[in-house]
Amino acid sequence: MDEPDAGTLEALPDHDFRRVLCVVAHPDDVEYGTSAAVAEWTARGIEVAYLLLTTGEAGMQRPPAETGPLRAAEQRAACRAVGVDRLQILNHPDGVLVYSLDLRRDIARVIRQFRPDVVVTGSWEIEPSYGLNQADHRAAGLATADAVRDADNTWVFPELAQTEGLAKWGADWLLVSGHTRPTHGVPVSPQAVERAVASLDAHAAYLGDLPDHPAPRDFIPKLLAGQGRALGTGHGVLFRGYRLRG
Ligand SMILES: [Zn+2]
Repeated sequence: MDEPDAGTLEALPDHDFRRVLCVVAHPDDVEYGTSAAVAEWTARGIEVAYLLLTTGEAGMQRPPAETGPLRAAEQRAACRAVGVDRLQILNHPDGVLVYSLDLRRDIARVIRQFRPDVVVTGSWEIEPSYGLNQADHRAAGLATADAVRDADNTWVFPELAQTEGLAKWGADWLLVSGHTRPTHGVPVSPQAVERAVASLDAHAAYLGDLPDHPAPRDFIPKLLAGQGRALGTGHGVLFRGYRLRG
């Protein structure tokens, strides 16, 4: 990743965050750095929920029927490592996730249910900070960006209010991880770095299927140290932040 120059980014003004919703395509997507910010937030009493759009059933060598439940269990352990109790996994198809109105509605529904101040998702750029993006990540990121607005519009998906009783909800921030042009960052403690390593370690069976994958301890702290430099701090997590209201 090409980090911005040292000390050039400001810390995210997260002192009044109460609820954060992370929306990603797969089990493990939050665990490549973002989970350090999650650990930092939950340690401060902020409630964080994860919404996964697929079970990641196409991500291993074993059959999807076996992989889906295995990866969901590993994700639950990853959540525990960073203080997240609330995990919801939808059954959109892994590997062939489609940007669609149905996907936007499903995300908007959860935004209205959880009522987060902040929605976090991954970059939908073709080439985010970590290389060539994956198709599901692009669909998930873009659908989430749009669903944040949908959730706050009375006339988009009116059935969410009319038949499900879900009042519209406007988040204050959209944060995009892995973006090539970050605007803000969350400084994280050494404890949060440790918990981030543990959260990726929790995906042991999945990582075991990837023979060339480095051990989490060998790259997560380094990654967070690199991002911390832009904040002028030891370790950090960078985001592109969009202030939506407030
Ligand atoms: Zn993924």
